[in-house]
Amino acid sequence: MYNQKDRDDFLIRMLQEGMTRATAMRMMCYATTLHRLADAQCNGDYPADNGERSVKTCAVCGMCWSPASFRSGMCPDCRTTALVHAAIPAGFTAIINGDPRGAVLKIVVPSGYTNDWGAVGVCVPSSRYIARTVPQRGTGTALRECSILQEPHHKRGIL
Ligand SMILES: [Zn+2]
Repeated sequence: MYNQKDRDDFLIRMLQEGMTRATAMRMMCYATTLHRLADAQCNGDYPADNGERSVKTCAVCGMCWSPASFRSGMCPDCRTTALVHAAIPAGFTAIINGDPRGAVLKIVVPSGYTNDWGAVGVCVPSSRYIARTVPQRGTGTALRECSILQEPHHKRGIL
């Protein structure tokens, strides 16, 4: 589950490793996009194939996406991947994992520090977990974080 502390920790770590704040912020934006697209591929949400909408096969990755989502002959996933690789500074390596249950984007840093269970790299927080929040009744604007693997709060009797 990602929250503000995870994002702050990521920024501090990347600054310590020599990445600029702007690039680190950009990596979190890309992680959010990649996470949304990985979710869409799993759930059949737009712009991914759901077995009903017309799709086009990406020549780069071989996945099927809505034709309207293609730009420059690339699907949104391949475009975002290209942006990540173009923006990542020398000395860092981006690892993109298409499984939305975990960090979709990880970065191998120069010091070798890792914070993921596989000891591969540093997880890039995305706002996808924050987006999966349950509005609290009565408070209006306050949101409660909820892992995708947890039951909704109303089923646990919290609300
Ligand atoms: Zn593609």
